[in-house]
Amino acid sequence: MSIAMTENELRTAIDADQIFALYQPQVDVTSRRVVAGEVLARWRHPDAGIVSPLEFIPLAERTALIDDIGLRMLQAGWQAAQRWNTPDMHVGVAVNVSPVQLTSERLDEAVSMLVQHTGLPADTLTLEITESHRILDVPGVAARLESLRELGVGISIDDFGVGYSSMERVEELPISEIKIDISMVQDDSDAGYAAFMEIAEYAHDRALRLVAEGVETEAQLERVDRLHCDRAQGWLFGEPLDDAAFERAVRPGPLRGLDD
Ligand code: C2E
Ligand code: CA
Ligand code: CA
Repeated sequence: MSIAMTENELRTAIDADQIFALYQPQVDVTSRRVVAGEVLARWRHPDAGIVSPLEFIPLAERTALIDDIGLRMLQAGWQAAQRWNTPDMHVGVAVNVSPVQLTSERLDEAVSMLVQHTGLPADTLTLEITESHRILDVPGVAARLESLRELGVGISIDDFGVGYSSMERVEELPISEIKIDISMVQDDSDAGYAAFMEIAEYAHDRALRLVAEGVETEAQLERVDRLHCDRAQGWLFGEPLDDAAFERAVRPGPLRGLDD
């Protein structure tokens, strides 16, 4: 259901804790095990039900609200990761970051606090930079991302292959991962395959982790595997889940049997 929303309404929703996180599994392409979860925001609207981020993130980005939503999703993801990780299991968490959030120090400060005050290794966290807006202050953003990389946090360029993201951008920013856009993963034309292969070779040459999103079919997984993507995400492996369901999905063995 589409709803007309205002900045005030979204502000109220944030304050009333109506924005919450779901977690979508990312699997290691070789082992097929869940190795990370991507945090995806949802709005539990009192009248409209669950509202998609596609409906409220753009409004949040036009206002200062994206900072608050982004920090909440970061905190939710990091807390969830503390439950997923045990001495013998390492599960990462990926949090979406709007370039708008990189225009101030708030994100860096929050990430440093979380990483320094908990026992989880910094590389548990990957920040997925969604280039919905062109990054204007590239040197400023690069410096901020550099300090996050120095902490050990992963930086991913999201939706790679569409929009503003380009190989040129990869040269300018200190990133550790490329996340190939769904449109490229699902394009089964020869030209699509060639473009995907070019990105895959580029990523491998630079030792960047390569993640494919939107993998829905075995044929798409086969292609992703052939192009040596490290990780895959999509309906084939699981939809966005609440924290408890995600935890059951990552924890092999007895826990999973408890409520079967
Ligand atoms: P995204 O970062 O590219 O996230 C992937 C989107 O694809 C998610 O939609 C996910 O549910 C969907 N998806 C996953 N697997 C499949 C598949 O196999 N097939 C298809 N057709 N779709 C799949 P969702 O959750 O609606 O999120 C939409 C977008 O909203 C995200 O795209 C991201 O750009 C933005 N977003 C979500 N949460 C946040 C957030 O906390 N902060 C920011 N800045 N943006 C967010
Ligand atoms: Ca993403
Ligand atoms: Ca995408």
